[in-house]
Amino acid sequence: MRPTVLCFSGLDPSGGAGLQADIEAIGQSGAHAAIACTALTIQNSQQVFGFEATSKDLLLAQANAVVNDLPIKVVKSGMLGTTDNIAALAEFLRAHPDFQYVLDPVLVANSGGSLGNQATLVKAFVELIPLATILTPNTVELRALTGCEDLDQATQKLFEMGAKAVLVKGGHEDTPTYIRNALYINGDIISETKCPRLEGEYHGSGCSLASFIAGRLAQGDQIKNAVHHAETWLFGVLKRAEIPVEGGQRIPKRF
Ligand code: PLP
Repeated sequence: MRPTVLCFSGLDPSGGAGLQADIEAIGQSGAHAAIACTALTIQNSQQVFGFEATSKDLLLAQANAVVNDLPIKVVKSGMLGTTDNIAALAEFLRAHPDFQYVLDPVLVANSGGSLGNQATLVKAFVELIPLATILTPNTVELRALTGCEDLDQATQKLFEMGAKAVLVKGGHEDTPTYIRNALYINGDIISETKCPRLEGEYHGSGCSLASFIAGRLAQGDQIKNAVHHAETWLFGVLKRAEIPVEGGQRIPKRF
């Protein structure tokens, strides 16, 4: 069976982000996706209306049901929704130290809607950071997690907090013609990529990138190769993204 990524992620009914993005991206990377669902959200491509989080016990029960059943190599997390779910995931990861772990520190949706109480989530993420093989924050999340405005200082702070590798995604920075992503391992910059900024807003681009990285890691890629494969793949996916309604964020076309 294909190496498996176990995702802790939420359901987005629009199919752009969350667990559907994870399943499609991981499938495209060549790996198999399994899901422990953290929350059911109510949203479309324009707006988040609310969510109901899974209980900690239900979340762990889902993960434990498949942990010895599938060839899990990597755990990936997206929306966790509550501090209880973050604690549950930390407990699960500590029980399985051989799994690699991709932490996409989701705090708010790209549309701006809340996916949990940001202040409490930020505090709880501190427990997960040292458990991660790689973190994939955008610059809004990076600043929120570290309390540092300056991006270099914020990145170094993340390493002081126990991070091993960090992909800083520059999509939220004021660079009208390009997006710069930078990969750091053990505090050192390893590579940076610049791609042309595509027109429009996208729903689920972060989930897709982190999941593709997880899928490549599950198949044996080193971090740098996994990130580069994922960035190249995502650019194509976003270029052919579909516009659902006027004013809606574009839905990445992952097939
Ligand atoms: N997970 C869920 C369930 C979501 O609904 C969202 C955004 O709406 C995200 C994660 C993060 O999405 P993005 O990849 O756009 O940052």
